[in-house]
Amino acid sequence: MERLAYDIVIVGGGAAGLRGAIAAAETSRALRIAIVSKVYPMRSHTVSAEGGTAAVLRDYDSFDSHGFDTVKGSDFLADQDVVEFFVRRAPGEVIQMEHWGCPWSREPDGRVAVRAFGGMSVKRTAFAADKVGFHMLHTLFQTSLKYENIERFDEWFVTQILAEGGKVAGVAALELRSGTIHAIAAKAVILSTGGAGRVYEFTTNGAIKTGDGMALAYRAGAPLKDMEFLQFHPTCLPGTGILITEAARGEGGYLVNNKGERFLKKYVPEKMELGPRDILSRSIIQEIREGRGFDGPYGHYVGLDLRHLGEEVIDRKLPMVRELSEEYAGIDPVHELIPVRPGQHYIMGGVHTDITGSTGMAGLYAAGEAACVSINGANRLGSNSLSECLVFGAEAGRSAAAYALTQGPVGSNPVTALAKAEETRIFDGLLKREGGESLADVRREMQRAMEEHVGIYRSAEALEKALSLLRELRKRFDRVGVRDKDPFFNTELTATLELDFMLDLAEVIANAALLRKESRGAHSRTDYPKRDDANFLAHSMAFRTATGPRYETKPVTITKWPPAARVY
Ligand SMILES: Cc1cc2nc3c(=O)[nH]c(=O)nc-3n(C[C@H](O)[C@H](O)[C@H](O)COP(=O)(O)OP(=O)(O)OC[C@H]3O[C@@H](n4cnc5c(N)ncnc54)[C@H](O)[C@@H]3O)c2cc1C
Repeated sequence: MERLAYDIVIVGGGAAGLRGAIAAAETSRALRIAIVSKVYPMRSHTVSAEGGTAAVLRDYDSFDSHGFDTVKGSDFLADQDVVEFFVRRAPGEVIQMEHWGCPWSREPDGRVAVRAFGGMSVKRTAFAADKVGFHMLHTLFQTSLKYENIERFDEWFVTQILAEGGKVAGVAALELRSGTIHAIAAKAVILSTGGAGRVYEFTTNGAIKTGDGMALAYRAGAPLKDMEFLQFHPTCLPGTGILITEAARGEGGYLVNNKGERFLKKYVPEKMELGPRDILSRSIIQEIREGRGFDGPYGHYVGLDLRHLGEEVIDRKLPMVRELSEEYAGIDPVHELIPVRPGQHYIMGGVHTDITGSTGMAGLYAAGEAACVSINGANRLGSNSLSECLVFGAEAGRSAAAYALTQGPVGSNPVTALAKAEETRIFDGLLKREGGESLADVRREMQRAMEEHVGIYRSAEALEKALSLLRELRKRFDRVGVRDKDPFFNTELTATLELDFMLDLAEVIANAALLRKESRGAHSRTDYPKRDDANFLAHSMAFRTATGPRYETKPVTITKWPPAARVY
């Protein structure tokens, strides 16, 4: 087996991973850094971000205002010291992106343009038309190419974190093209593997968002934090789940029911279309349940009305919204309503880290959507995630670099033996398996169970049902046979590995949701409709055991914003 050795291995080539690699490379030219990604970096989900990235860039704005909006949006579950750090660092990151060549949209006077976004009390979301993720990822990717000490392993799939004595020693990775497992020794590993939306059936997330990094960390012994909190975005195209960006509302779009009413006046009168996502998603479901939705081939929906914005504004500021509506819904938003309904979009929870990106396990770091550093709490504000990837991607890169510089050479670590065992598990175990169960059936049933029983509204009864279905599915997974035995680019094999990860995460999510007997942010329990600060103003921490997840709680850090009623 070929054995590679680096100072730092970064798993994931999205915004967080690339920003981390650049920060580590800048810390010391002597550090050798590897980016390992299961897809070519420009295909990471970051590329599909549309709306923008939040930062205080104007005199009318302030750190306190961005901080308070974020904490209120989080339903007071975010750690406020982390939020304060985040809002102070975000502007420097946006300007750094400008210096690296990101083509931000402009105000007439030449400044980086900002737009309104849900839950933000002033305009503070920088954007590049409605292709923000594409331009940001391109900027980071091309910048990363400058550094000779960054090397890439594109289309390599990390299957395991290798550790010895509780300390990270590297990763095992499947090179997809050749179908071989490699040991990559490392002093530090940063997980920046993105979200886990594919655990659900109706999601805006790309097919690669299967939560691998969260499952890798969990299996290596690091805890997952706040996994019960999933964000449902209010405006997705029925049928495909394709996202219609919040920028459509930021630029002035309306949500209307089948009576043509802007129904949000009943739910979030002060903020209307710029209310936070959790409340808007519930409002849409409520309208549909009370018979005021439209009926379509893919179920009920409400209308997103951009007609009053006019063709010129739509083409200049929301060209992708027009393109997606035409291509995937067959309508032109210049003249017609866009059909929309809520869909899974983002996971607030993830691998627990402290403010430096450290997971607590020596040498293991995490950043981006895969991590939970805790700025999003129970509900993320749109446009905070890309900024989070920049701020905490950079922070994790610097922390991992500082740590790696204190460690001895990687020469003697035991990764080859560990990776051999992983090779046996995958090639002699999974690939040779001849079970009669179908991968696609087990995956679809898991996604349905999560959609139906662990969705926008939850109850003890529904969550117990989900857990019993998941237990069955775990047993059936053990009988899933891999029909394609070819080692080269075996997507059936990688899909099986991904489903294995997702089944772990689904169990953690459903259990955490059952234990949280209150409603907070995106977690809405019909049997416990109120927020309960006396008992639940705390993070949930899930640890893996042989019999399933074990949970602990961790206090929320409060600095200057005591929990208050969350009204908009
Ligand atoms: C449609 C859409 C629109 C969005 N719009 C916005 C927006 O406007 N503003 C905003 O702030 N946020 C937005 N978000 C959220 C935001 O884009 C994401 O949270 C963020 O881009 C995640 O970046 P990341 O670097 O953490 O992960 P990703 O960009 O998802 O990258 C993950 C990386 O990990 C790699 N990887 C995963 N598993 C493995 C494995 N096993 N082995 C090797 N590599 C692996 C992948 O190859 C990939 O390179 C949007 C999200 C979606 C889905």
